[in-house]
Amino acid sequence: MGLFEKAQLLLRERFGYGSFRPGQEQAVRAVLEGRDVLAVMPTGAGKSICYQIPAAALEGMAIVVSPLISLMSDQVRACREAGISAVFLNSTLELEEKRQITRAMLANMVDVVYITPEQLVQERFAAYMRKLNIGLVAVDEAHCISQWGHDFRPSYQGIGPVIASLPQRPPVMALTATATARVSADIRTLLGLQRPVEVRTGFDRPNLAFFVQRMPDSQKIQAILSYVRAHPDDAGIVYCSTRKKVDEVYQELMGAGVKAGRYKGDMAAGTREAYQRDFINDDTQVMVATNAFGMGIDKSNVRYVIHHNMPASIEAYYQEAGRAGRDGEPAECILLWNDNDIRIQRLLIDNAAAEAAELEGAAQAGAGKQRLLSSMVSYCHTAGCLRRFILGYFDEVESLPERCGNCGNCLDGAQGTDVSKIAVAVMACVRELRWPVGKGTLADIVCGSRSAKIKDKDYDRLDSYDSVSEPAALVRDVIELMAAEGYLAISDGEYTVVTQGPRASELSSLGFTLQMKHVSKAAAAKGAAKASSKSSNIPLQGRELELFQELRTLRKAIADEDGVPPYVVFSDKTLREMASLQPTDEDAFLAVSGVGTVKLEHYGRQFMGAIRSFLEAPAE
Ligand code: ADP
Ligand code: ZN
Repeated sequence: MGLFEKAQLLLRERFGYGSFRPGQEQAVRAVLEGRDVLAVMPTGAGKSICYQIPAAALEGMAIVVSPLISLMSDQVRACREAGISAVFLNSTLELEEKRQITRAMLANMVDVVYITPEQLVQERFAAYMRKLNIGLVAVDEAHCISQWGHDFRPSYQGIGPVIASLPQRPPVMALTATATARVSADIRTLLGLQRPVEVRTGFDRPNLAFFVQRMPDSQKIQAILSYVRAHPDDAGIVYCSTRKKVDEVYQELMGAGVKAGRYKGDMAAGTREAYQRDFINDDTQVMVATNAFGMGIDKSNVRYVIHHNMPASIEAYYQEAGRAGRDGEPAECILLWNDNDIRIQRLLIDNAAAEAAELEGAAQAGAGKQRLLSSMVSYCHTAGCLRRFILGYFDEVESLPERCGNCGNCLDGAQGTDVSKIAVAVMACVRELRWPVGKGTLADIVCGSRSAKIKDKDYDRLDSYDSVSEPAALVRDVIELMAAEGYLAISDGEYTVVTQGPRASELSSLGFTLQMKHVSKAAAAKGAAKASSKSSNIPLQGRELELFQELRTLRKAIADEDGVPPYVVFSDKTLREMASLQPTDEDAFLAVSGVGTVKLEHYGRQFMGAIRSFLEAPAE
């Protein structure tokens, strides 16, 4: 039997999965052939299998560098549940524990060693590593090595030299969910990858449904509350832009009897971790958090992520929203926004730029951030497919249809309104004005306002005065959209004023059109309802759903007794399949995706028992 056949067998026996996903297969094959690998795969694509299976198939052990101490014990548990012997080394261990573990490693008795970069780069450990039988070094969250990445960790830069110092260089695998060209270049050079096989699985997450809803601040909390109440069995995350808002939303949910947790930067570390544990263990339903929450959350059954505010970039949004649906089951990502969000983000960028004004390159950084923000604003306004918009942003649209059928805009909540004429009138006014004015004044001029402010300045004598017969509120939105698309620029400085943007000249061309999303309330509600009723991959009905709930309760009881998160026992997806297949003998139980031999041994009796008594009980 070849090594790869062995790997396939291990996948089936230990993890209970029928086959590798395409990216996994590529990565596993490459490592087994002794090649280096750079794997760029989105959250939920199944990165851990890429090193866990080779670790079990190869003679030597896999050293897995991971930045997240909080995850390690769960990761080790998950390995052991798959019959893979795993240990972790980090600063939380006592000296004696460390000694025991290192002895086991020397005796080549472990398959997988999770270690923090800080531990790995200590000279004492590096020296010890040279005596080990190492089959693979895997570097998780590899983007942390780059200053261009969003989570730079200096200790990552010590990993490359440690690998280079090994007497026999094992294959090296770098894994990340986010890598721009610059970051991947850094990963290659700083880790010293040798002609790595590059595995890219694409960023699309078909099971995520995207929604954008414009809403005044005053309605947001109620909207969130009613969504949460309408999904009482689902876990979710609510992201807020400020700590104060986190508290408000949290209080509101708790007041309404929802089991919620919260997470923000100014909380004591212990408190924060307790809230995080409760959420991971399914003891709370909703986590209300700032963007400090999420890195290292391995909760696979998050069914929705709601953003109370618009984030600063598409990157940030996709990463945060992407924490939903890691198990591949349907999940919803909902963005609530209004003009205040744009104003606040712009203010933050300006303030940061002002603070850093003396630093070289600060202005450039500010301009970069404006561009990131512009794309985010365009996302809010687009009437096109939201998935296409996001993937287009990451340069990945070729393979996608025009409409994905699984986002708010595709589910016909949105229609494009042609606002080209308004845009042309606004541009004419910008060009005609001798001194630039702010967004509100600009809209007032083209709409022909009779206010004293307009008359005093003789704006009513301009050619473009009163050239638009639409409400000023709509014109202000068009101005925002034009700025987001680069036709106008909304400048920073003491007063925000509107000037021509880099694409201003395009308005003079014949083919110019500009579409803006127009959503009637009824249509928006309809769209959301449609998505919510969209069935899961494994639709469950009546009795099956009842059984699923019972199995969930059983899973929770077992997890609590063992002190592990429920997903370590079985994922929601596996439980759904169980509820649908209703296995009552070992072969049938093993046939459920996600059930390997170790899990059969650990949990088979209890779960099959529950299924049997459920089947024997008379239906109501
Ligand atoms: P990532 O680290 O890339 O975010 P994970 O390793 O946590 O992803 O895997 C995501 C989910 O996909 C997990 O629930 C995992 O059990 C499941 N999974 C991984 N590989 C497979 C496979 N080949 N077949 C079925 N499910 C898989
Ligand atoms: Zn779509």
